[in-house]
Amino acid sequence: MNELNFTSENQKLKVVIPNIVLDEIHILCTSSYPNETGGILVGFYNEQYNSAIISKLIPPPSDSKSGPTWFIRGINGVKKKLDQLWYNEKEYYIGEWHYHPGSSSNLSNQDIKQMSEISNNDNYKCPEPILLIVGGEYKNWEYSTYVFPKNNKLIHLDVLNELC
Ligand SMILES: [Zn+2]
Repeated sequence: MNELNFTSENQKLKVVIPNIVLDEIHILCTSSYPNETGGILVGFYNEQYNSAIISKLIPPPSDSKSGPTWFIRGINGVKKKLDQLWYNEKEYYIGEWHYHPGSSSNLSNQDIKQMSEISNNDNYKCPEPILLIVGGEYKNWEYSTYVFPKNNKLIHLDVLNELC
């Protein structure tokens, strides 16, 4: 298997994360352990607008801050990178990811609050941001993915396939 697929219970929404992106996430998580880290998910939707394909990450901006149980993603250079990605590759902001070192990938109340703010913030132009949380540690990773539709309840996506 060369990607991780997530889907909603009604199969109407899918998120695809290729191995090459996961490898980068694992390196960032391992090097920040025991502190959290995170960043931005970049990619595109398919024509039917029901599958988000994550093609790359924006690594933690230089003004990001974190501790063992918290992560505040900074903003340094983010707008410029997103503008470049859109201009050069027609790829755009899909959502956020962060790491829960050595613990569950379930989302916290703080995570819900931050994502609702993003879905309601017109600057992001992203009414349905996705959140990927990576839990666990080296060789024992755990993943949870959620969608936060503007003015609606969050949707949890289940892993369709486990990585080999
Ligand atoms: Zn979290």
